[in-house]
Amino acid sequence: ESVFSHVAHAPEDPILGVTVAYNKDPSPIKLNLGVGAYRTEEGRPLVLSIVRKAEQQIVNDMTRVKEYLPITGLAEFNKLSARLIFGADSLAIRENRVTTVQCLSGTGSLRVGAEFLAKHYHQRMIYIPHPTWGNHPKVFTLAGLNVKTYRYYDPTTRGLNFQGLLDDLGSAPSGAIVLLHACAHNPTGVDPTLTQWEQIRQLIRSKGLMPFFDSAYQGFASGSLDADAESVRMFVADGGELLVAQSYAKNMGLYGERVGALSVVCKTAEVAGRVESQLKLVIRPMYSNPPIHGASIVAFILKDRSMYNEWTVELKMMADRIISMRQQLYDALRSRGTPGDWTHIIRQIGMFTFTGLNSKQVAFMTKEYHIYMTSDGRISMAGLSSKRVPHLADAIHAAVT
Ligand code: PMP
Repeated sequence: ESVFSHVAHAPEDPILGVTVAYNKDPSPIKLNLGVGAYRTEEGRPLVLSIVRKAEQQIVNDMTRVKEYLPITGLAEFNKLSARLIFGADSLAIRENRVTTVQCLSGTGSLRVGAEFLAKHYHQRMIYIPHPTWGNHPKVFTLAGLNVKTYRYYDPTTRGLNFQGLLDDLGSAPSGAIVLLHACAHNPTGVDPTLTQWEQIRQLIRSKGLMPFFDSAYQGFASGSLDADAESVRMFVADGGELLVAQSYAKNMGLYGERVGALSVVCKTAEVAGRVESQLKLVIRPMYSNPPIHGASIVAFILKDRSMYNEWTVELKMMADRIISMRQQLYDALRSRGTPGDWTHIIRQIGMFTFTGLNSKQVAFMTKEYHIYMTSDGRISMAGLSSKRVPHLADAIHAAVT
């Protein structure tokens, strides 16, 4: 008998499990709106042409070797990533108060940041929005932090519960860590306005809370890299400290390459140097050092003005297609006379729409229409195409009538 015979079968991941179920469905009309990955109008995964171009030049460069990167990753990638999120003219960068380390995409950056905080920060309480990306509570708990939630979403307006957010952060213990989605909140698609961000910033700073930004969708929400970084830059501009986890999964389409970065903005260059030395102690026993290929692609694109510009054009094209899917779905529901207010479909931002459909309606749409999504009613707009909008609209209409 196996020594592992007591091991119970674990449940599928609630998000990745949607794709598992989708793959098993033989129906020709099936539609996967579960996974958060960009698809073309034809429903196919997209490799950006700027990524192909960078990759080709990297592969053809015979001087490039496959040596280990340093524990902190590719130095040039780190420098360029900090500039991308904080802005080229960032005072914190000029003052050398930022330390940036290459990590395994957004998830790995969150995990390294959380482990560092659990070890070296005086407060282990982290407040995450309710709802949030399903992996957040697991990442932070396993890193040794105590997870609490703050109110974020108001189901009646399908918008922000701003008062609830202020009340909950206002009663958080001093120094508590606050996880903030930099833009395109997942799963709700609801972001604070800049005026609301400013109020959140004042509250967080006045209470000495520690902001930890999750930036998984820079440029993907509005189509503008600068606009989507506004929230983070407001917090850096006040001179206070914070952490940011960046991912290149969505905005460069580098999902499986696992490219991301963790930045810690400190009060002084001296502190930043010591923080970096401790980040290395977190990383070394975890995976030693990060992979070289994806970070080389990113650095190649970010350092060259014309490649960077080409990237922004492709990025905007993806963002615009998603925005157009929102309009098309909204119009299709309007034209069917589907009961209810569906304006949130065009009000929400980023990859996801939080439809407001409940788990029973979701189950109905999967069973009768072969449409797959997470049970909280979140649909990935990036998985939708003009051709498939009528099918989805029919399903939603049937589910709510
Ligand atoms: N944070 C949020 C809010 C996300 O939606 C995602 C991707 N689904 C991530 C982080 C991390 O993704 P990755 O590790 O692939 O960069």
